[in-house]
Amino acid sequence: MAARILKEKNIDFIMLESTDHVGGRARTLKGSPHIEYGPEFLHGETPLTDELLEKYDIPFYDMQFDYHLFEKGELHKLSDFWERVCDVIKNIKVEGNDLPFAEYISKFDYHSKEDQEIAKSFVQGFDAADLNNVSTKTLGEMKDVVCDPSIRKMRRPLHGYGELMERMADEVFSHILFNYVVQEIDWRKDQVIVRGTIRNEDIPFECRANKVLDTVSVGVLHQQDIHPRPPALQDFLQSVEMGQVVKMVADLDYEFFHQFEGHSFPFVASPELSFTAWWTTTPIHTTTVTGWAGGEKARALSDMSEDECQKAFIRDLACITSKSYDQIKKWIKKIHFHDWNHDPSFKGAYSYPKVIQGEKKEIKTQFEDTLYFAGEAFHAEFSGTIEGALLTGKDAAEKIYGNLRQ
Ligand SMILES: Cc1cc2nc3c(=O)[nH]c(=O)nc-3n(C[C@H](O)[C@H](O)[C@H](O)COP(=O)(O)OP(=O)(O)OC[C@H]3O[C@@H](n4cnc5c(N)ncnc54)[C@H](O)[C@@H]3O)c2cc1C
Repeated sequence: MAARILKEKNIDFIMLESTDHVGGRARTLKGSPHIEYGPEFLHGETPLTDELLEKYDIPFYDMQFDYHLFEKGELHKLSDFWERVCDVIKNIKVEGNDLPFAEYISKFDYHSKEDQEIAKSFVQGFDAADLNNVSTKTLGEMKDVVCDPSIRKMRRPLHGYGELMERMADEVFSHILFNYVVQEIDWRKDQVIVRGTIRNEDIPFECRANKVLDTVSVGVLHQQDIHPRPPALQDFLQSVEMGQVVKMVADLDYEFFHQFEGHSFPFVASPELSFTAWWTTTPIHTTTVTGWAGGEKARALSDMSEDECQKAFIRDLACITSKSYDQIKKWIKKIHFHDWNHDPSFKGAYSYPKVIQGEKKEIKTQFEDTLYFAGEAFHAEFSGTIEGALLTGKDAAEKIYGNLRQ
């Protein structure tokens, strides 16, 4: 996003990308069916993403989720899922020190046990957050977003997010250096040296510029060598954590879908299982089923081998569909997975707000008109989303352009 704007303004730049592809976490395996390793939804109102989809004429469609809860071995309809989550979030009151959501919800039990479990499952699943670490105060501040009915509107690019990323990258392709892993940023006003290594070849490189925009995930940023490291950046990094997600997408035999009326598999929340949310691409019928775990559940799965995770996936899917393990296994053609939590280019799925003591400071993304930051974590309202990442990239590029013109 930033590169497109810099190019449009005739600013000379290069993009250093540690992997061999564009899009970062937005990664689609093309095919029929296509597989989304990372993001797949447009959550609520996303004006900037919409503008880009329209510009490139990329089709998208509305999801139709029929919410169900799988509990104590039974599946039942949950038509008021969002209302119940909203009810817990909007009633959050934290006076004085912030506290983790797990502690808050156990202390203030004026909600029903079932609502508490749904809210916990939402914070773990949707925010990918560790309940023992996530800021209750910040969750409370998000009540307007969570309780706004528009957030329930979920859309999906028809052929996956990868198409949007590729179309955007086409405009700046000649500026991208792939497999360039940045390890160090040495900077002072209007002078930057970026050092790193070319992946797989172990060849060091050095680039000089008068400005730098760093867009790595906060998981990577925690460990990047930045000299000098601005104290405000350090403060910000103390207030965010990289959430963990394990997302597995199974491509199944069409016969699997015959058991559901109208061939549509519902959205299932299954807080008692290893994978706590399940969905398909409905109302568009493809042959995929996605199993999702966030927060502590994802951490537990991340400690297992991929083979053990796949077994947990099959076991859970067998449970919620009341089929045998062997039957589900027979129907599965392939299970797709990318290990975001251990990938050194990401070190997690997306950011969430951590408990902090004292006043929360405003996010600073610009230091001496030389060192800039962008990426999902830097957006105060839409962190953890594609829209948030795009908005911060646009903002940073416009600031750079503004400063170069002065
Ligand atoms: C499983 C999963 C599901 C998700 N679902 C959704 C969803 O449905 N909807 C939604 O809106 N969002 C979703 N997200 C979040 C969304 O993917 C992110 O918010 C967004 O993609 C972040 O974009 P970014 O540009 O900030 O970071 P990234 O996409 O991480 O981009 C950073 C880039 O920096 C590169 N890089 C990293 N380290 C270095 C280095 N040392 N040197 C050079 N380059 C480096 C990376 O390779 C990458 O290309 C999901 C994420 C995951 C993982």
